[in-house]
Amino acid sequence: MEDSLIHKGQRNQLVKALRDKGITDEKVLFAIGQIPRHLFFFDKALEKFAYEDKAFPIASHQTISQPYTVALESQLLNITGREKVLEIGTGSGYQAAVLSLMGASVYSIERQQELYTNTTSLLKELKYAVSTFLGDGFKGLPQYAPFDRIIITAAAPFIPRTLLDQLKIGGILVSPIENDKKQELIRIKKISDTDFEQTLHGECAFVPMLEGINFQKNI
Ligand code: SAH
Repeated sequence: MEDSLIHKGQRNQLVKALRDKGITDEKVLFAIGQIPRHLFFFDKALEKFAYEDKAFPIASHQTISQPYTVALESQLLNITGREKVLEIGTGSGYQAAVLSLMGASVYSIERQQELYTNTTSLLKELKYAVSTFLGDGFKGLPQYAPFDRIIITAAAPFIPRTLLDQLKIGGILVSPIENDKKQELIRIKKISDTDFEQTLHGECAFVPMLEGINFQKNI
């Protein structure tokens, strides 16, 4: 679990690249500049690419998202203080770590048992205060609702009504949404129990959001 000066230098370069691509939220850039992304790679052979702005495979046929996408989703959430955030798709834990370092109180759900187990212990070891859950993100976490923010990090075929119900009025949900094989980032603001404002924020590439829990080991 080593974080060297070389890694720190590579992170500074990554932060610069994200600024050049239009990321302006200083909390996001600070978090990405601090977090050792290489430690979130399951495949040690890929660690040397950790500060490239690309997605990479992790276990269970899933991916660690591209840093630009993590940065953009985080920026769209507009974290200003200690917002309570629900994340769907813990995966490697990197996105959850970014939100946690930005000051949010993070609750994250994963449907792959293997990833849930590995990532829960990694986040604990790296001392990120993230609460992790094995479950189906389509159901959310009713026992902890309502949330100030919800972030989905897998491509949703539609935005589940259950999740919009678990969002506070004035709250924001950010998610990739898939239509005709094309994925776009969507940001939804809850104005009232029945009114929502939505905006689109460009194309993206995520693994699909799937229903149910997978208990199989699936490298
Ligand atoms: N936020 C992650 C991205 C991982 S990829 C990171 O920073 O690494 C998306 C993850 O969403 C995968 O791990 C996948 O298993 C998970 N996922 C897909 N559908 C889900 C669902 N219905 N509930 C919870 N997790 C889900």
